[in-house]
Amino acid sequence: MLDPGHNGGNAAAPEEINRHVPAGRGRTKPCNTTGTATNDGYPEHAFTFDVAKRVRRLLRQQGIEVVMTRQSDDGVGPCVDRRADIGNRTRADAVVSIHADGAEGTARGFHIAYSSPPLNAAQGKPSVRLARTLRDALRDAGFPLSTYLGSDGLAPRDDLAGLNLSKRPVVLVECGNMRNPQEAATMKQAAGRQKYADAIADGVLRYLGAR
Ligand SMILES: [Zn+2]
Repeated sequence: MLDPGHNGGNAAAPEEINRHVPAGRGRTKPCNTTGTATNDGYPEHAFTFDVAKRVRRLLRQQGIEVVMTRQSDDGVGPCVDRRADIGNRTRADAVVSIHADGAEGTARGFHIAYSSPPLNAAQGKPSVRLARTLRDALRDAGFPLSTYLGSDGLAPRDDLAGLNLSKRPVVLVECGNMRNPQEAATMKQAAGRQKYADAIADGVLRYLGAR
């Protein structure tokens, strides 16, 4: 399952996206958020949706069945708990959320977040292996490891609803920092998004043993 973060209609629907939903570990969180953007306004939701579609195409070419949590970039949500449900109900072999960050401009690089401490078996070893495999694939593709979050491109987290609520192997890929001019330039270009997609698909295929 591919989960492109946020959605293009979220900003126009504050009542819906600000309502709180279960986030795991006894907490709640807003249903969804608008996401970040480059300094000149290229939005994260457009980036994540385009990259996810490119990954889907690559995986389908290899005979992998792909489900996405949203089918367009002009809708609202779905809420984070609903996104996790989709992966659980479809019994996804791997769940990959795709995001980009909005950190301070000097920060750069990607990191892969996984649930820690794990709340079930799927969040344990399989998710850590998925995280490491995707980290290796992005690093091998030439993307720099995060300079500002996690270590060695990996970030254990206990506060991300999509990770906490998953019963399937799950990670969240923060592709880079949209506020960093160099990374923003890559993200804004179709060729740059294809490069991210190639690396993510490579990592998923390695994880599934298809490569
Ligand atoms: Zn995001």
